[in-house]
This record gives sequence, C-alpha cells and structure tokens, in this order.
Amino acid sequence: MRAVTWHGRHDVRVDSVPDPEIVNPRDCIIKITSTAICGSDLHLYDGYIPGMRAGDILGHENMGEVVEVGAKSTLKKGQRVVIPFTISCGSCFFCSKQQFSACDNSNPAETADPSEIAYGHSMGGAFGYAHLTGGYAGGQAEYLRVPYSDVGPIVIPDGLEDDKVLFLSDILPTGWQAAVNCDIEPGDTVAVWGCGPVGLFAIQSAFVLGAHRVIAIDHFPRRLQLAKSMGAEILNYEEVDVRDALNEMTGGIGPDACIDAVGMESHGMSVDNIADTIKAHTYLGTDRPHALRQVILACRKGGRVSIPGVYGGMADKFPIGALMEKGLTVKSGQTHVQKFGRKLLEMIGEGKLDTTFLISHRSSLEDAPDMYRHWHDEQNDYTKIVLKPDMAKGDIKTTKELADVDA
Ligand SMILES: [Zn+2]
Ligand SMILES: [Zn+2]
Repeated sequence: MRAVTWHGRHDVRVDSVPDPEIVNPRDCIIKITSTAICGSDLHLYDGYIPGMRAGDILGHENMGEVVEVGAKSTLKKGQRVVIPFTISCGSCFFCSKQQFSACDNSNPAETADPSEIAYGHSMGGAFGYAHLTGGYAGGQAEYLRVPYSDVGPIVIPDGLEDDKVLFLSDILPTGWQAAVNCDIEPGDTVAVWGCGPVGLFAIQSAFVLGAHRVIAIDHFPRRLQLAKSMGAEILNYEEVDVRDALNEMTGGIGPDACIDAVGMESHGMSVDNIADTIKAHTYLGTDRPHALRQVILACRKGGRVSIPGVYGGMADKFPIGALMEKGLTVKSGQTHVQKFGRKLLEMIGEGKLDTTFLISHRSSLEDAPDMYRHWHDEQNDYTKIVLKPDMAKGDIKTTKELADVDA
C-alpha cells in the first residue's frame, strides 16, 4: 500500500510499504477514507519528538471502513469507524478509571522504557507518534491496523459524512477536554492562547459548557477571524500587550480560566522566547513555553490553567512562584478520547457541534509532502488539511473551490 512516511526533519515522503495484517484477535484493519494532518504532526516534522525512525508511517487522526476483523473484535466488516488517536486496552487500572491515554498495556515494555526514564512512568500507546508511544503505524496510508478494536473505534451512523466526524479522532475531544479541565462556572471568562484547531474547538466547547466570555489570542488574522465568528473576543499579540489587555478586559482581575493551546513551539519575538528558540536549535533545551508562562502570569488568583498544548521535555524559566502564590489549579494531559467520543458524536448528530468549518484543504496521500510543507509554512491559510486516499494526485481542493462546487 501507499503510506506517508517520516524520514527526518522536514523530510516526509510517500512510500510503498507492506499492507498491515491482523496480529492479535482483538485487531481490525480499516481502509482509510479520511485522515488529517495534526498540529502535533508538525512537532514530528520539525524533529522535536524523540523516538522517530526513518520510514515510520505518520497519522493519528484516522477514519475508514472496516475490511478485516480478528476473532475477538466487536466490529463488523463494512462499518464506518473513527479511530481515537490514543490506543487503550479498556481494562487496566487507568482504562477502568477512564484515563484512557494513560493505558498501561498499549505501549510494549521495550518501547515504553525510554518514556519511563523521561517521564517517571511509561506513556500509553498512540498511532503514528514515535516509538516512545509504542511505534504503531499511523493512518496516513491506505490501510491501518487498529489494536483493541473492541474498545476504541467509534461506529459512525449512515448519513454523517467523514468531514463531520473525522475530528472525533483527536482535536475535537482534545478541545473539549481542554474546556472540561477549566471547570467552567457560570459567568466565567476563559482565555485561550492559540487559535489552531484545538484552540478553536476549545473556544466552541467553552461556550457549550457555559462560559460567559471567551477571549482568543493569536497572531494569524484568519484564525482570529474564525475565533471571532464563534463568538470569542480576540487579541492579536503582535498588536497589544496580552496581559495588559486581559487585565483591562476583566476589571483588573484576570481570566478565571486560561487554556494553553499552543504548546512547545511558541511563536513570537519576546526575550524569553528568543532565548528558548536558541536553546532548542542548539539542543540545550527542548520546549519553548512562552505561551504557558504568559498563561500563568495572566490567570486570575485562584484560577484554573488547562494545558492541551503538547510539551515533550524540559521547560526553562517556568514561573513556579506565580503558580503557587496565586493558588492556580493546573490540569493537563493527552486526551482520554474514548471517554468523550460517543457523547461528542451525539452532539454532532444533534447539530450542537460543527467542526467542518475548520477544513481548508483536501488532497490525495501522494500530495502529503507538499501539504506538510504548506501546513508548516502557511498557517494563516492552511487551517486544517484532510488527506483522502481516493483523491487523485494533484487534485487539491480548497474550501473555496468546494464551496463553489457546492453552489
Ligand atoms: Zn492530533
Ligand atoms: Zn488500558
């Protein structure tokens, strides 16, 4: 089959590789119908995530049609399923607490050991995300093997097209969990750093969960415009001092809850961020936590901090004093997709959540290397890219063209 593979920093290719096979009775194989490129794939593209090997198949936002089932899979051939990016056994200590992304069984010991050294405990498994998370092949390919197919996959009813449900695999539940982790109370103001896909879905989710006001922070005009269209007030950090502006907008108190949907590759030209960037490029540090520093300093006393943004290693100049003295509550973590997926599917079916507005480009697998480059270099125009294996090479559809076709 054809698959999108990683070969090093800024080197993504499309290779012919062996088709996946059932290796455990609980597995199934799906034929991919849609797979998205995630913001966190850019961390792989930029070479910041350890444990990638040349030839690894990328992709953790996957859906498709079941074409083969193991003896203990609960799925049937022909079903359409969305696959959570987290791989979870469903029955270990963590899975039974619905902390699915912490699954203790899905990451084989031989690959989990480095993450145990780095993080104190080993990570759960994930698709297409380096050997520290199990080394599982991703789904930016024609076919995907799905382990524990009796636990994770979300069966999609007929009538809900791929574009409406694909993001149940990751970014929608990730945005949702980010808002849930804010413990939103009536009247709350929630500030969101980063209007990428997760930030935008966190904004949408915060309103659904009862936030009175949401303030969105970014510098890409198109992304800020999308945030505004969802009802958020917007701040362009290139035009204003974010902390001053937030204080002014909240009567000097600060936002009740703050979401860092930026993560380890913060943009911007602040002094701390320039120092972090130099350290990252010289391998003296890994993460650039500028947004997180600002979140902690901006949040009101006694407020809540939610971190869906991905961090990988060590952060420098972390304002632990502000965190402790202000009595902030911090919640974080990879998403427990299996906990939220079915509820969110219901809300999509009822029209309470719509995520299709985010997709800016659709293309074939063969065009993926170009799409990675655009996604990396043109974040204003490329808000979300969906790869469809049945599209022809070179047939790239932008939202505008699709709208024209629809009209
Ligand atoms: Zn993702
Ligand atoms: Zn488990």
